[in-house]
Amino acid sequence: MNTFSRFARPALQRSTSVMACQALRACCRTGKTAGPRSSCLTSVQLRGHQTMGSASASLPLTRHSVRHVRALDEERLMEVEWEDGGQSLYPFTWLRDNCQCPMCTLESAQARKLLMADLDIHTGVDVVEVTNDNKVSIVWPDQHTSVFDAEWLKKRCFSPAARQAMQEELFLNERYYWDSKLRIPTADYQEVLHDDQAALAWLLALRRVGIVYLKGAPAEQGQVARLAERIGYLRLTFYGHTWQVQDKYMANNVAYTSGRLSLHTDYPALHFAPGVQFLHCITQAVEGGESEVVDGFHMAKQLQREDPEAFRTLTSLPVDFTDTGTDYCDFMLQSKKCIIDLDPEGRVVRINYNNATRNSVLDLPLHQVQPFYRALKTYVNIMNRPENVVTYSMQPGDLVTFDNWRLLHGRRSYVSRLDRLRHLEGAYLDWDEVMSRLRILRSSVNGNV
Ligand SMILES: [Zn+2]
Repeated sequence: MNTFSRFARPALQRSTSVMACQALRACCRTGKTAGPRSSCLTSVQLRGHQTMGSASASLPLTRHSVRHVRALDEERLMEVEWEDGGQSLYPFTWLRDNCQCPMCTLESAQARKLLMADLDIHTGVDVVEVTNDNKVSIVWPDQHTSVFDAEWLKKRCFSPAARQAMQEELFLNERYYWDSKLRIPTADYQEVLHDDQAALAWLLALRRVGIVYLKGAPAEQGQVARLAERIGYLRLTFYGHTWQVQDKYMANNVAYTSGRLSLHTDYPALHFAPGVQFLHCITQAVEGGESEVVDGFHMAKQLQREDPEAFRTLTSLPVDFTDTGTDYCDFMLQSKKCIIDLDPEGRVVRINYNNATRNSVLDLPLHQVQPFYRALKTYVNIMNRPENVVTYSMQPGDLVTFDNWRLLHGRRSYVSRLDRLRHLEGAYLDWDEVMSRLRILRSSVNGNV
C-alpha cells in the first residue's frame, strides 16, 4: 500500500515559490530495501499535480473577461479593466507589433509576419473597444484593425506578478533543493515510454528535483536511445551517440577505468555542456561501483552563505578545460568556464566542474591563483560533506536521468572481474529538447492552450 507524502523532507528546501513546491508530490514505497531510497511517481500523483499546478496561469478553466477598455493616449498605453477586478496596461507599440491578424501573423507557424521595417514604434490608436464576444478590438490610424483574445492578453499582462507567472510556466525555474535525505523520485521505465502522464511526471521531477530513477528497463543496450526518442533526439558528442562506461584498456576518459570518480559534471570542456544525462545499468560490479550525487545548486547556495568571497571567485574567474583523444572521431577540445554560472538576475544556472579535465593551463594573474584554489577547495569540501551526498547502487535494468547542469555525480571504485564486467550505457540530451517535450506533454495531458 502506498502512502502519500512529500518526497521532500524538511531538509529538501524549495528555492522560493510555495506554489511550485506543492506541484510535485510523490508516494514513498514502504518496506523496500533494495536500490536507492526512492519515491515513485504515479498517475495519482500526477493528478495531484494537475490540481496543484506549478503556475496558476497554466490552469485551464479560468476564463478572464474584459469589463472595460480605454486608451491612455498621453502614455500611449491601453488599459484593460477585468471583470474579476484589477487592470492591465499594454503599450500601443507592443499591441501593434503583436497584431494577430493573417496579414501580421502566419497562423500555421504562429510566427510574426510583420516586419520591423513596417512597425511604427510611435503609433497612436483611433478606436479601442470591447467586442460582443469579449475580445479587445483596436483600430489603428491607418485603419488596420487588430483583435485580441481576452485570455491571450491576460497572460501577457506586464505586471511583475504576471510576468513572473508566465516565465515560471514557460521555464519552470523553481527548483527543490535537497541533501542526503532525498528519496530519489522513481518511475517505471515502461510507463514513461507508453503513458503521457507518467512521462510528464518524470520530466517535471527531472526539472524540479534534478534526478529521477527509472526502474524496469531491459538490461541490454539501446534503452537510453529509446528513452531519448521519447523526448526527441539525443545529443551527439565526441564520445558517440551513446557511450559505454566500462573498464577499458588505454581508456580515453577516466570514467572508462575502475577507479573512483570524484563528484563532477560531465563535459565542461564543451562550451555548451549537455544539459541532461541518462545512465543505464546493464551489468553492475560484484563489489563497489556505487553512485554518488549532490545538488550543485544547493551547494552553491551554501557556499554563498558560508563563504561569499569564495562564491564570488567561482562565479567570476574563468577556468580552462580541455579534452583530447579519439572516440567518435578525434578531438582536441578547449573551453573557458566559470565553475558556477549565474544568470543576469544572479541565480545559479549551471555548474561546470570536472577535476579530470580542468586544464593545467590556468589563465589567471599570479595573485588570483591561490584564491582560486582556496575557493574551489571550499566548494568541493561542502559537496563532500556526508549530509549532502546521496549514494545509491544501480542494478541491471535501472536507468538514472539527471540534470547535468545542476548535479555533480561520482562513482566509487569497483573490482573489475573479467567474467562480470561492469557496464553502463550513457547518453546526453539538451534542456531545450527536454523542456520542449515537457511543454507538449503538459499541454496534451492538461488540455491547456
Ligand atoms: Zn494585423
